[in-house]
Amino acid sequence: MGMIKLRNVSKYYYSKGIIASGISRVNLDLDSGEFVVITGESGSGKSTLLNVISGLDTYEEGEMYIEGKETSHYTASDFEDYRQQYISCIFQSFNLISSYTVYQNIALAMQIDGREPAEIRQKVNDIIKKVGLFEFRNRKVSKLSGGQKQRVAIARALAKDTKILVADEPTGNLDSESAEGIVDLLTDIASDKLVIVVTHNYEQFRDHATRIIKMHDGKIVEDTGAALARREDAAASAYRHRRSGTDHSAKKEKIPYGTQLRLGVRNAFNLPAKFLLLLLVFLFVVGAVSAQYVTVKKQKDTVAEEGWNNFFANYDPKRIVVEKQDRSPFTKADYEALENAPHVEKLIREDVMYDSSVYIENDEFSFYGFVLDIGNLDKEPDLGGMPKADDEVVLSGYDDGWTFGENPEELIGKTYTVAADGGYEQKVKVAGIVFLGDGEGRESDTESEYSETDDTENSMIYFSKPFIEEVRKGLYASNSKTTMLINGSEETLFVGTGGLVVNENVPEGYILLPTSYDGLFKKGYAAGNEVKLHTKALYYDQELTLMIMGTYGEKTFEKKTGLKNLADHDGEIYINTMDFRRLYEKGNFQVSVFVDDTKNSVGMKDMLERGGYHVLVLKDHINSFMDEEIVGIIQLPIAVIVCLAVFFIAYFVIRLILKSRGVYFATVRMLGMGKEPARRIMRVELVLDCMIAYALFVLFIYLNRIEIVKSAILMDHLAYLTMRDYIILAIILLVMAVLISGRFMRSIFKSSAMGTYREEA
Ligand code: ADP
Ligand code: MG
Repeated sequence: MGMIKLRNVSKYYYSKGIIASGISRVNLDLDSGEFVVITGESGSGKSTLLNVISGLDTYEEGEMYIEGKETSHYTASDFEDYRQQYISCIFQSFNLISSYTVYQNIALAMQIDGREPAEIRQKVNDIIKKVGLFEFRNRKVSKLSGGQKQRVAIARALAKDTKILVADEPTGNLDSESAEGIVDLLTDIASDKLVIVVTHNYEQFRDHATRIIKMHDGKIVEDTGAALARREDAAASAYRHRRSGTDHSAKKEKIPYGTQLRLGVRNAFNLPAKFLLLLLVFLFVVGAVSAQYVTVKKQKDTVAEEGWNNFFANYDPKRIVVEKQDRSPFTKADYEALENAPHVEKLIREDVMYDSSVYIENDEFSFYGFVLDIGNLDKEPDLGGMPKADDEVVLSGYDDGWTFGENPEELIGKTYTVAADGGYEQKVKVAGIVFLGDGEGRESDTESEYSETDDTENSMIYFSKPFIEEVRKGLYASNSKTTMLINGSEETLFVGTGGLVVNENVPEGYILLPTSYDGLFKKGYAAGNEVKLHTKALYYDQELTLMIMGTYGEKTFEKKTGLKNLADHDGEIYINTMDFRRLYEKGNFQVSVFVDDTKNSVGMKDMLERGGYHVLVLKDHINSFMDEEIVGIIQLPIAVIVCLAVFFIAYFVIRLILKSRGVYFATVRMLGMGKEPARRIMRVELVLDCMIAYALFVLFIYLNRIEIVKSAILMDHLAYLTMRDYIILAIILLVMAVLISGRFMRSIFKSSAMGTYREEA
């Protein structure tokens, strides 16, 4: 049984509608130990025959047998397998990886074959000695002469250790002296392999070949193989080879991951120009994607600011909301500076009151309104009179029959409970009532109760200054998040009735808990242990450690708290006023300034910003609800489109940069590497490049932060990117690198290895 048997094999080329015959009806038997030289004039079909034998080209007619197996039904991947197992190729143009050293080129063949590192070292060194390149083993192939390169190619073929070695014009690019060395090497190899050489210069091989085949017009016209003295030991050595040959049945995935990683890393760095170019492209990608990202965030932020407007119940166009840029509380000096600034009509210190509603209620009556300082009431009440004490209020609302009931005058002088968001329960008296509108409200009392909130003015409650201050604190408290850490477990506390409440019976530094907390402790007593309260407010964080003074139950509640009716206070937790202040009374963080005229708003904004304030001019942010929707709808697709555009630009530039990689991957394929390991090697290379670019990007931002580099764009990055965003960015980049390498590999593997070489030629 021969190694290769061709029976009436024909190969045609179809190009531009013309059919050219490569070889026609070729019959041939080749066996191990033969040194076959195929010769003939140019265009006679030598290369075609060689490519058919080595599975690089398919054939259309006849049958080729490989060790007795038919191949006419083979698919492309069957031929890839066949080539990997049987064929080593040597080309006129060497097809080495010129950025690798001699050693690396040869070792690559064995790495792809999945050999052990120790075996690789041993064998590669042996082979390098054999081809006489030992002193050059660490030199890059690009620095070798043509003859040396062809020796490397032969060494690589030897390292691959296949039964068949094919060489197409191996001496075509060499001077006669180098050619001689190559012929000797091939002759030596042919003792236990099938060596097939195509040449138009058969003189060089005449003395060594065991068989000379002459082609003409796609046909074999002369086969002197039988006539020449065939080596007697051919059959024996063939047997020897078959016995010692490696088992090539385990396939494709046999390159160890470590090797794939090492090759990827090597490829990333061994061409410095390519590395730098890729780095630039990835920097561009990081820059573009992060800039887009920041734009979206910035936009959202602006919208969120505008969104405040939904919470600003008082959107007087003259109103400008002010906080300090360092988010610290306002000081007396701040208040004075703001009050005395030009064009300031008035300063509202407790401006959150403007936007918060408060209930006053008793068993018969309840009233809901926005809170205002009594100083803002510019007319005498319609019923009753102006307040005479801090705990007296004036209500203002429509006299429509149900807001104040049928007999509003009966409300005057009575006591009510104020329920503000902070959970403060204070008693107030109603001193007077102001009616809104022209008094025609009464006629609309059959309408839905919602009509009242839909239009015109809101109901108001006018309080005294000290009382407002109390409510403001309550609002700040209720807008912060408080957690209690008790014996290792954490829970969120609600501030106000039913939650965390001030109680004067509790001394400073202590906390009073319901009995249910006793269960948290092993001994069944909470008293004497510590708890940690932690408040995270909009403007600050505060921690406080308190000692548990004890717990209260049904029987002890009144004695311990001085309060009545446990049912109304179920689950409450009590602390001292001083401790409460430590947690919540950090001062006032937001005020409102009213300009004398809206045309001064812009100037005021500039002045305040220069003075260290963060400013929101309300009149610029009215009706922004729609904007928010629109921005949300438009912004995302734009971001996606920009990212896609960046992706494609990057892809095409990277493709250009990696053009040389085409030859690299054609070569590793020829050496038998499968698509998956190739893809992973490529991925390592790109991911590495892109992560280095990312690291540089982060470094730039850091340099900007410590003010070595100054860039407005990077400042935005600093302001808007959080840790989470950096991670998301890194992931986007990684995904991009992986997708690009995947696409690149697919395009490389679409054409055959031979096709890639032809394109490059
Ligand atoms: P040789 O190697 O002996 O010079 P080839 O095997 O390259 O000859 O070519 C044999 C015939 O096939 C020639 O007529 C050539 O024009 C044709 N041929 C070879 N390769 C192609 C191809 N890729 N497309 C079309 N025709 C081809
Ligand atoms: Mg040729």
